[in-house]
Amino acid sequence: MIPLAQLTTSDPRLQALSMTASDLPLAGGPGPRGLYVHVPFCVHKCHYCDFYSLVETGPDSRRPAFTDRLIEEIRAAAPRVPCPLQTIFVGGGTPTLLEPGLWARLLAAIRTHLPLAPGLEFTVEANPDSLEPELLDVLVRGGVNRLSIGAQSFNPRLLATLERRHDPANVRRAVGLARAAGITNVNLDLIFGIPGQDLDTWLADLDEAVSLEPLHLSCYSLMYEPNTPLTARMRSGAIRRVDEEVEAAMYEATIDRLHEAGFEHYEISSWARPGRACAHNLLYWRNESWWPLGPGAAGHVEGIRWKNVPRLGDYLRVGPLPPITDVEQLDEDGTVGEILMLGLRLTEGIGEAQLRTLLARGRRGPQRASAIEQQVAAGLLARRDGFLRFTRAGLLLADTVLAEVL
Ligand code: SF4
Repeated sequence: MIPLAQLTTSDPRLQALSMTASDLPLAGGPGPRGLYVHVPFCVHKCHYCDFYSLVETGPDSRRPAFTDRLIEEIRAAAPRVPCPLQTIFVGGGTPTLLEPGLWARLLAAIRTHLPLAPGLEFTVEANPDSLEPELLDVLVRGGVNRLSIGAQSFNPRLLATLERRHDPANVRRAVGLARAAGITNVNLDLIFGIPGQDLDTWLADLDEAVSLEPLHLSCYSLMYEPNTPLTARMRSGAIRRVDEEVEAAMYEATIDRLHEAGFEHYEISSWARPGRACAHNLLYWRNESWWPLGPGAAGHVEGIRWKNVPRLGDYLRVGPLPPITDVEQLDEDGTVGEILMLGLRLTEGIGEAQLRTLLARGRRGPQRASAIEQQVAAGLLARRDGFLRFTRAGLLLADTVLAEVL
């Protein structure tokens, strides 16, 4: 990563980002196919979270100023988004903390300035406590057709361990309100491996989630990110990490339980009803292009990755748009490594023909080919139906296997 403080779009190092549509030789058509919008406000900082978010709730909140700036950024991004967007994902933070009036302005700006494909998948992340009929009405009128609700757990004790403050009863309420407003495509995020959780309490959470009939479930193991209060509590002995074997059992039980319930396991942490995989996340895993908006948002267009300035104050102050701070263009080996790492996350794996092409690029191809064969021999990767993919045993050790291959 090249730290490039306060870059402007006239900087020669950013010429690639100033390319026109015809300069961008993207597989799926020129220009980004997706849009990611980062809304950095939360009511409270959860103890496990390392996303960029701020607790600003009072009358002095910068939410209106943020919305103004975001609309400016949308206008500035428009020339770089020449073809209809297939996906939009508004994440955070807690996007549903923006007031309905601010949402109405934001959605109008998106529809006015950006080209949208007819079958656009438009997702908004929602906190169960901050979803109200008035807001849902504004979202639906503005084209939002998918909600991703951060349930995490239905167990108050486990939510308290995470310092997650929503009322678990509100998850059911939020799903009901979404359906009443016409949004049937609902994802629930769940976390397993929370201190104090055992296999039975995890399966109770999973069953409760399935009973709400979401079309998509994302089940993540709890991550102890550096510099989070949760990690500090774990290091001080205040909480005990769930044993690795128990966490592995939870993951395996998730695969079985959701298979029985009719979900397709299509990515390491993602399950969907047939045809309901998250199109936006598939862009990431297939190494396709998307444009970022908002502080701290990261984007990727044709091998060039960059981030917007991470702090809200800088985002509001900084002059030219886009407000870029870091740019990275991977070399051939880095690009191949990234495509392998992302593609193998998908349970379908990577097609053998694509794999051969990838391994013929860069200097590390022969080493990687040999590492792949070792993982196949160890039963952690398998070749089946013209694809290289994780075996079930490999899924449990995915990080280790990927590290070996890369
Ligand atoms: S609500 Fe989400 S983004 Fe906000 S602090 Fe909690 S985990 Fe982080």
